[in-house]
This record gives sequence, C-alpha cells and structure tokens, in this order.
Amino acid sequence: MPKNDHDLIIIGGGPAGLTAGLYAARSRLDALLLERFAPGGQVLNTDWVENYPGFPEGVSGFDLVDKIKAQVDRFELPTRSAEITGLKKDGDRFTVSLADGEVRAKAVIICSGADPGRLGVEGEEKLTGRGVSYCGTCDGPFYKDMVVAAVGGGDTACEEAEFLTRFAKKVYLIHRRDELRAQKINKERVLANDKITVKWDSVLDSIDGRDGVEGLTLKNVKTGAVDKLKVDGVFIFVGYLPNTDYLGGLLELDNRGFIVTDTEMTASIPGIYAAGDCRSKNLRQIVTAVGDGATAAFNAERHLESLKI
Ligand code: NAP
Repeated sequence: MPKNDHDLIIIGGGPAGLTAGLYAARSRLDALLLERFAPGGQVLNTDWVENYPGFPEGVSGFDLVDKIKAQVDRFELPTRSAEITGLKKDGDRFTVSLADGEVRAKAVIICSGADPGRLGVEGEEKLTGRGVSYCGTCDGPFYKDMVVAAVGGGDTACEEAEFLTRFAKKVYLIHRRDELRAQKINKERVLANDKITVKWDSVLDSIDGRDGVEGLTLKNVKTGAVDKLKVDGVFIFVGYLPNTDYLGGLLELDNRGFIVTDTEMTASIPGIYAAGDCRSKNLRQIVTAVGDGATAAFNAERHLESLKI
C-alpha cells in the first residue's frame, strides 16, 4: 500500500521536477515525485542539446535525462507514475487528485511543463526531430547555410526567425494572415531582414519528406493556390500550451495559463511552488528549468521548516 501523505509532492518529472527532487532527496525530505509518463518531459523530444553547460560536445536529450535521473536515483527519491487530475487545498494540507486515488502533502512543487502548439498537419508528427522542430534556440545551429521555414506570426515566430538567420542562408516565415501579430519592433526587424521572406496568407497543407524534411506544401488561404517550397527544416511557433488545466482556479495564472510566481518560485498560495516551463517567465530552457527546480525545492524546505515552529 503506497504512502499517501508526504511533506512534499513534486508534480512532473522533466528537468525542473527532477532537479527539485534531487534537492529534496539530498535534504532528506519526505518527498514524492509524480510523473505522468516516463521522466524527461520535452527534453526527450530534443535530438541534440548543445546549450546545456558541462557537455562541450553536446548531449542527446535522452542521455541528458538519463544522467539527471541516475543522479536523482542515487538519493533514492520515491517516484510514482500517475495522471494528475486535480490539486486543492484542504486545511493545512494539499490534496493531489490522481486518476487512481489521491495523495496529500504539506507543500507542492508544480513542474508539469508546457507543450508547444502543434499544427496537426500531415508529416508533422512523423518528421518531428527529423527536420520538424519547435525550438530555434535548440536546433537552429544545425541548419548552417541551409533553407528553413518558421511558422507563426507572433513574437516567438518573429524572434526565432531572426535567430535562425544567424545560421540558415534563407528563412521563410509562413503566416496565415497578411499582418504579423508580433510587437512592432519584432515586425520591423523581420521585414527589414534580407534573409527572411514572409509568405503571407499561407498555411501548411503538409510537411513533405521520407526520412527528413524535404519541403512543404503551402496553401494560400485567400486564393486557394497551392505552392511547393523546398526547405531543409521547419520550425513551428504557434504558441505554447501550459499543462495547468488540472489546477482549476486554485492558483493565479497569467493570461496564457502559466503559473504566476515570485522570484522564489512561490505561487499565489503559500506552500505551492512552480518551476520550469509551466511557470510564467520569458526563457524556457533546460538550464532555466533546473534553476527553477532548485530554487523551488530550497524554498519548499524552508516553508516546511516554518510549519514546525
Ligand atoms: P502567440 O502570440 O499566440 O502567436 C502565435 C502565432 O501563431 C500567431 O501569429 C497565430 O496566428 C499563429 N498560429 C496559431 N495557431 C496557428 C495555426 N494553427 N496555424 C497557423 N498559425 C497559427 O504565441 P507566441 O508568439 O509564442 O507568443 C506568446 C506570448 O508570449 C505572446 O503574448 C507574446 O507577445 C509573448 N512573447 C513576447 C516576447 C517578447 O516580448 N520579446 C517574445 C516571445 C513571446 P494569428 O496571428 O493569425 O492568430
């Protein structure tokens, strides 16, 4: 019979959750990490990580997770595979509802992540990690002197399209309307960049290629005209979806559904912390996620200490 009452529950086993778990386990807290699937989160979708310090040659997303997980296991953090369906405050405890029961704790660190919005077009799923990417910072450097496309018209798409011009010789920005949603400065930069060509009023019909991206089939939403575009990679930036639905109205969220915290990772209810991609912040990277996780665990421990006084 698993123990159902803990000092600390960590929701999510990506880099933020695993790091929070590492710190909690090393502090000998009575902690439990809950993970929906296998530990790793979005990093597992990243073929090669070149911007995480300590790996001069880079490291595969899989290997990085494996190493973090092995480090956590050394300190014997209890983990449980569970689908989280709710979180509520019950007196001096928090109750985490699971698909198959519930667990309670005095403090909770939420690290449930965010997923990049998918387009749902033919070829997208099959070629993800083989030319389809959702992260310019991670994968842009692989496209030196190649031709890539970026999809979306928001600030992320514009900033990332600009970033991609550092590597690619040409970047197509594909936007479904005839006006960019992004802030003026980002619009101006994109339009002034000789390496970027905007394909207005265009959506992807399919991402084409056998073992890697070879091209795109575009449709003009005004004329219906279909066009083929030869590219070596396509980056999709159509917004992020935080995994915070299960919170109901418990915590303050920003207007996009990310959890608002202070700089100590404390959410709007004392005793609840958020770390990593589900948190409202500007830079979503593995390196910021692990920093968030460490800070959250440190402050959760202080909170637990304060409850004893
Ligand atoms: P976003 O602002 O929601 O923009 C998403 C873009 O993707 C929009 O242009 C949208 O088109 C397009 N899109 C959505 N679904 C699509 C689909 N199915 N097919 C084709 N296109 C689709 O997302 P974001 O750019 O990731 O930015 C999120 C938030 O972060 C925004 O508030 C943004 O201002 C902010 N942000 C700020 C900065 C900064 O200040 N430096 C940097 C990055 C992000 P429509 O325009 O037609 O809806």
